[in-house]
Amino acid sequence: MSPLRLVLLGRQGAGKGTQGIRLAEHYGAAHVSTGDMLRAAVAEGTEFGRRAGEIMDRGDLVPDDVMVGVVQERLAKDDARTAGFLLDGFPRTVVQAEALDDLLAPDGLTAVVNIDVPLDEVRARMRSRGRADDTDEAIERRLSHYEEQTAPLIAYYETGSLLVAVHGLGTMDEVFERLVAAIDEARGPS
Ligand code: AMP
Repeated sequence: MSPLRLVLLGRQGAGKGTQGIRLAEHYGAAHVSTGDMLRAAVAEGTEFGRRAGEIMDRGDLVPDDVMVGVVQERLAKDDARTAGFLLDGFPRTVVQAEALDDLLAPDGLTAVVNIDVPLDEVRARMRSRGRADDTDEAIERRLSHYEEQTAPLIAYYETGSLLVAVHGLGTMDEVFERLVAAIDEARGPS
């Protein structure tokens, strides 16, 4: 079976991070979280990290060309090329999605999984997780960026028949099982 090339979509607080780690382990694929990569750069204190950190604290998006460069470099590494990957937090805009299509041509993605959790629920989850960058203002900015810039990706991937929707309410194990069932079905028989 060809390596898994997956995009996880979903609002912040939908469980992408937690489920992404478990799914990557389950499928033996690389977990590529752009948020984690940016937070690592912030922790290293590089000039890039400093600038990215300011943007993240405001709840804004890092520019598309920067993010595309980061992901291009990461997907070129051996593990992602041979074992496949699970993208978590990228793409977040249609421009990023188009760049990803170019990067992956001619193979393309295996599937795009949208973890669907209602707005009120993710708002409550983000408020309670207590991350330093989770001020009320930043939360609202991130949610509105999602609706304006990232939600259009649902239509983008529906058009390409890549989209699989998974109901994201329930226990972590329940959602994980739904995700695995949806991904296995999208991959088809081995
Ligand atoms: P996350 O951990 O995925 O919620 O990402 C945390 C923050 O990193 C976001 O609120 C953005 O500021 C930034 N970020 C992560 N991925 C991207 C991306 N693909 N495009 C733009 N900004 C991003």
